[in-house]
Amino acid sequence: MNIILMGLPGAGKGTQATRIIEEMNIPHISTGDMFRAAVQEGTPLGLEAKSYMDQGQLVPDHVTIGIVKDRLAKEDCSSGFLLDGFPRTVPQAEALDQLLTELGRELEHVVYIDVKEEELMRRLTGRYICRSCGASYHELFAPAKVAGVCDRCGGELYQREDDKAETVANRLKVNMKQTQLLLDYYQSAGIVVRVDGMQEIDEVTDEILTKIRDGKL
Ligand SMILES: [Zn+2]
Repeated sequence: MNIILMGLPGAGKGTQATRIIEEMNIPHISTGDMFRAAVQEGTPLGLEAKSYMDQGQLVPDHVTIGIVKDRLAKEDCSSGFLLDGFPRTVPQAEALDQLLTELGRELEHVVYIDVKEEELMRRLTGRYICRSCGASYHELFAPAKVAGVCDRCGGELYQREDDKAETVANRLKVNMKQTQLLLDYYQSAGIVVRVDGMQEIDEVTDEILTKIRDGKL
């Protein structure tokens, strides 16, 4: 079962990835983990990637794709994989198609966890952090007993720049554009599985598993 998992920030991709790989018994292949492993193993591509990252530059596609190829060729991917965070762009998606062909594999599903923008904003902007002890709160999901004050140490709570509404809205806008292009690309291949990400976590998992299993029969 070769699957790509997609979703905007805040859609619950990480949580669902953990559940899918357990149920399907396939490895979770995230871009971050893949880069870290390649750098740690000191592979030529890993070292090349590191030289870009050390300079704060984006790792170019030919390096990223090489790393993905090495990873997908490993033994543990023989019965499938769950890709997360790659591809990000249509050229990367095209390169992935090509390398899967070289490996004699085929993508079966592109699972998209669909969550409305207003809900993503709600989930992503409510986070507050304690200035003194670093404890983390969320306005809606884990509020402090007294607004603005840390339950644990009485410290002052603040919002990080990354969690402010304007920053989050911009991040979402960029992501939505990219995601839509990718979905259009895979839609034409007829392999997009849309899942309602507004449901409870368990229901989202059930919908994903039902849909990908049905698709396989
Ligand atoms: Zn505190």
